Amino acid sequence: MLIDTHAHLSLPQFDKDRTEVIKRAHDAGIKHIITVGTDSDDCRKAVALEEEHDFISAAVGIHPHDAKTINAETYSLLRGFAADSNVVAIGEIGLDFYRNLSLRETQIHHFREQLRIAREVSLPVIIHDREAHQEVLKVLQEEQAATVRALLHCFSGARGMAQA
Ligand SMILES: [Zn+2]
Ligand SMILES: [Zn+2]
Repeated sequence: MLIDTHAHLSLPQFDKDRTEVIKRAHDAGIKHIITVGTDSDDCRKAVALEEEHDFISAAVGIHPHDAKTINAETYSLLRGFAADSNVVAIGEIGLDFYRNLSLRETQIHHFREQLRIAREVSLPVIIHDREAHQEVLKVLQEEQAATVRALLHCFSGARGMAQA
């Protein structure tokens, strides 16, 4: 069975042909798709997609690039989305020290906060880690992410980190 665990179906690049893209994936034998939100607005769209399609679930979280957009309402919004039974993970969240589109301290702070939300709502996390292996591992361990389980996508760390 083929499952796509990391799609971004809500991105504007799919605005013209989203329905066809989803249909083609389905026709090609993809049994399930998890579409992953990256900011508040994108999470809202991801949730709308899982509501529309039986074989789509959503993950909701604020990408490290967008950590700077987090405001007082963001976390209550995420908690609200997480109550939906077809929201299956918190993500994508993490650290990106390659592009640094949000300040590193801001990224770390909100990575921690979202790991706490994941534990609170008992959902696994989807982690974006780019050139921040040590810091990602440190925060995951300090926030006891193992209790909710974590998936690192596009993993480029060493074997030791994978084992840890
Ligand atoms: Zn992604
Ligand atoms: Zn990513």
